[in-house]
Amino acid sequence: MADLTSSPAHVLIFPFPVQGHMNSMFKLTELLCLSGIHVTYLVTVQNHTRLLQNTDVVSKYTKYPGFCFQMLPESVSAGNALSIDMILNYYESLKTAKTFLRDLLIREGKTKTVTCLITDGLMKFTLDVGEETGVPVIYFRTASACSFWAYFCADRVIEAGECPFKDDMDLPIRSIPGMEGFLRQRDLPSMFRAHDLNYSAFKMVVTETHQTVRAHALILNTFEDLEGSTLSQIRTQIPTIYTIGPLHAHLRVQAQLETTSSVLASSNSLWKEDRSCIKWLEDQPLKSVVYVSFGSLAIVTKEQLMEFWHGLVNSGYRFLWVIRPDSVTDMEGGREFSVELEEGTKARGYMVKWAPQEEVLAHPAIGGFLTHSGWNSTLESIHEGVPMICWPQSADQQINSRFVEEIWKLGLDIKDTCNRVIIEKAVRDLMEGRKEEFAISAKEMAALARKAVNDGGASRCNLNKLIEDIQLMNVAARHA
Ligand code: UDP
Repeated sequence: MADLTSSPAHVLIFPFPVQGHMNSMFKLTELLCLSGIHVTYLVTVQNHTRLLQNTDVVSKYTKYPGFCFQMLPESVSAGNALSIDMILNYYESLKTAKTFLRDLLIREGKTKTVTCLITDGLMKFTLDVGEETGVPVIYFRTASACSFWAYFCADRVIEAGECPFKDDMDLPIRSIPGMEGFLRQRDLPSMFRAHDLNYSAFKMVVTETHQTVRAHALILNTFEDLEGSTLSQIRTQIPTIYTIGPLHAHLRVQAQLETTSSVLASSNSLWKEDRSCIKWLEDQPLKSVVYVSFGSLAIVTKEQLMEFWHGLVNSGYRFLWVIRPDSVTDMEGGREFSVELEEGTKARGYMVKWAPQEEVLAHPAIGGFLTHSGWNSTLESIHEGVPMICWPQSADQQINSRFVEEIWKLGLDIKDTCNRVIIEKAVRDLMEGRKEEFAISAKEMAALARKAVNDGGASRCNLNKLIEDIQLMNVAARHA
């Protein structure tokens, strides 16, 4: 074991600057800090301002002596992405940080060696900088292993003639090893839907994914009992993988061990959490509420919003719904309320702009989650044993939702529909018709998620191994 006391390892963490990616990187940051590793967290100026406005991150992280934020140059603009195109703009603007990163490593290296970089697995320029400066780069891909593998196999899918898609979205996809029996066109990550394979988002994500082989290792926020068969496929191409998820759950274990649960009681949100919903949940019966949230990026049209609204109210079930500011398009003219909608919402609904989601999902009043199937949300729901209705919009969400329904049996996938009758039926099925069936599989998977992060669990061991390997790199770097 490396001697930690003299000069602790120092890791530079560089997330893609949107909420979901930042969240899992923050969780990893805190776990590394708890193990005595020093961390510099790279953040855009806009996101830093929002974190200061909406969270207690500064006071939270000042308790770790080796932690600091490092602001990215102003040229990296990333505040509030609302579309894939905006994400592509961020992607382009992030590349302007290449010289900055190189200079930072050289500058920091003079006073405080950087042991390694942990960077978002969508930023190959960080691999270039790592190679130029001799600093190892560990890639952290924050989405599901199943989506990673689908992107990795894009060339096979194209060679097999399965992409670009034919008109029938239910046609099977047979060219992805390990997924031959159950994937349909509609279940591939949304970028595969491009008619033109030169579509920039598709090209970007496939090219970036292939670059992973250049990284020192790959971190995935998943666990072996959940995605073991996909992981064994990925390992044929990428030998060193640390599966350490669900990341947020490690901190929960840590919080239980600590007498002061400061680890848990804080937020990394770019929006202000409205905690009044927790108070509202306190007054609701056990497992009676459907929690509705489409994450930090998804946008809905006014028409879609109204379908969900009617579906939820007509189901007769209670609901807690997160509607982010600016997440609904074409709202000119305001919302039209029918009397039934207004009364149903007043009687059984509660709406907030942003919720403390982990806490909401862990609340005993929650019985189901109507989600966009973002990977963090999926893991958070799995960990709490909450069955899901999946309404995926983009990126990995389409494949995550297929796994939720078809492989893990944790809920219903209603992708590519948006109709009040379907929504009402899905809510009723989740909350009553198929309730027992989902409860059994959700409970089993939650137990496996908890086992993974407890002492002796695979994710806990892999996290310990990652920490130990970083410390060994530190020793090696100091003796080089
Ligand atoms: N989240 C939250 N409050 C909300 C909605 C979302 O804290 O009201 C968090 C959620 O817990 C998750 C993240 O935002 O950790 C969203 O990430 P995810 O990967 O699910 O979706 P994305 O936003 O990247 O599409």
